[in-house]
Amino acid sequence: MEKIIEYILEQTKKILSIDSPSGYTQEVADRILEEYASMGYHAQKSVKGGVVADLGGNHKEDAILLTAHMDTLGAMVCEIKGNGRLKVSPLGGLHPMNTETENCRVITRCDGIYEGTFQLENASVHVNSEYGKAKRDFDTMEVVLDERVSSKEETEKLGIMTGDIVAFEPRTVITEKGYIKSRFLDDKLSVAILLGFAKYMKEENITPKRKIYHHITAYEEVGHGACGSVPEGVTEILSVDMGCVGEGLACTEHQVSICAKDSAGPYTYQVVNDLVKAAKEHEIDFAVDVYPHYGSDADAALEAGYDCRHGLIGPGVYASHGYERSHVDGVRATVELLKAYLL
Ligand SMILES: [Zn+2]
Repeated sequence: MEKIIEYILEQTKKILSIDSPSGYTQEVADRILEEYASMGYHAQKSVKGGVVADLGGNHKEDAILLTAHMDTLGAMVCEIKGNGRLKVSPLGGLHPMNTETENCRVITRCDGIYEGTFQLENASVHVNSEYGKAKRDFDTMEVVLDERVSSKEETEKLGIMTGDIVAFEPRTVITEKGYIKSRFLDDKLSVAILLGFAKYMKEENITPKRKIYHHITAYEEVGHGACGSVPEGVTEILSVDMGCVGEGLACTEHQVSICAKDSAGPYTYQVVNDLVKAAKEHEIDFAVDVYPHYGSDADAALEAGYDCRHGLIGPGVYASHGYERSHVDGVRATVELLKAYLL
């Protein structure tokens, strides 16, 4: 098991190092597809850009689909300003406050990648007496390019255009005590967990009772990741996505979270029951929570019309959609719960 955990951490770092805001996931999808293929699984890309892998199993008519998403928050250039700096529009629920001062990459369509930093306008505290009071939003913040540009024309000459993707530096750190800190642990940590689960099944030569599929989705952060590509015979969809950690909730970064209800309503009663039962029987450190502001890929699939049961689990992640933190204990508990529930 420790080998699998090490593999998950290594994959987490690899996947986090490939920029993939919603709408720009081709490269990370190729990487994930390769990883499933190298383990000997049949995996393919959906037209929409997701990766669907077949993990085998006997009962094809009662199959389960596990989803995790490879797309992340990010931004898109929406205006090149007169001073040559960039105004951006968020992709998904990116918050300007916790993205302030982050380094970023502007990925142009034809002219390569440019670096910059997302800053408040007039960001020098020695110059701007309103710095502390200024409102932080997408109208008052801008990408300052690391290029010698001071006009719209100069920036355009670089090849930067409206519609270019802006990816923020994840700043991944894994501490000696097992804390995992990075932007976009939501949901690349769970993508790595699903890869680790696939590797575990292969190495232990396990054929599950029910057929298992994985769908690594591409548009979760904008709401429609798992709205398609549900394989024939799937009767249950389990999202593996970050577990909420914060005031009023029970889960910590050291546990696996089982979500009973989120913004789209309650998860399937029997699925939550069975997850809780499996966790208790195997003495897995878990918490059941109701998430105040959350929607999952499993919700999206049901909203799209699929006739399935649904559930949501994931490692506890603090400071979600900002500089996030989880722990290797939460990763281990999530893998253990997948094993207890499915194998
Ligand atoms: Zn997520």
